[in-house]
Amino acid sequence: MTGGWSSDFSYGYYRRLLKAIKANFQIRLFSEVPEILKLHQEKPVVLLRHDVDLDLDSALTMAEIESDFQVSSCYMLMTNCPFYNLNDQSSRAIVSHLIQLGHEVGLHFDFNNQNDEYGDIKTDFLVAEIESSAKLLEDIISRPIYSISFHRPLQQFLKGPLFIAGKINAYSAELMDWYLSDSRGNWREGEPLQMLENPRKPLLQLLVHPIWWGDEHMKPSDRLQSFFEHRTQDLSGEQIEEFDNALSGHLGVRRSKIHNRKGE
Ligand SMILES: [Zn+2]
Repeated sequence: MTGGWSSDFSYGYYRRLLKAIKANFQIRLFSEVPEILKLHQEKPVVLLRHDVDLDLDSALTMAEIESDFQVSSCYMLMTNCPFYNLNDQSSRAIVSHLIQLGHEVGLHFDFNNQNDEYGDIKTDFLVAEIESSAKLLEDIISRPIYSISFHRPLQQFLKGPLFIAGKINAYSAELMDWYLSDSRGNWREGEPLQMLENPRKPLLQLLVHPIWWGDEHMKPSDRLQSFFEHRTQDLSGEQIEEFDNALSGHLGVRRSKIHNRKGE
């Protein structure tokens, strides 16, 4: 790992982050962004965002911890995730629970799971795809969504317009001025706690991926390993291989025992 900080991804540490943001920020939702940007804010604002890449259960655990602190955040959900299906009854139950706890639901958009190149794809075409995914999510949750984030940020939208397809773009220039993220299980800017205790700008977007967190600290590759083991225990060899292929391309982190399984 070059640079950054990745020493504590336990819920105990997450609770310390929540305490710090409660003490030093006003916690707002993406749906409130137009209003926030319009008015001068006395106290720094934090938008707490969660991209749910793999697992709704870990999202719900995080949502419950936040609820204990009366913190509301935004859970960005995928409509084409290889690892959960929002149409399942169990998924629907989790999503309604998230909403009941006072959290916002947004769209975590991935244009094509198989394709790393967005290259020449026309913006109009992408916007139409985003619109249809947003509609799908709205139909599932039976309420409007206000925000989107990209699983793989698209060059044309990175630090781009505030609205895309009528939704707040989490990667817009306005919301990226101060941005802290635990992508790949590493805080690239260094340990977040001190930064949350001493806000240096009026608006922070804090991105936390539920999948990297747990009761005890673990390295991201071990966290993925445990996710893999938990989710493949009842699958056939062929299904496991398929699951593994999807997993290895999904997050830019590999599960720790990947080489040991080859040839099994
Ligand atoms: Zn993602």
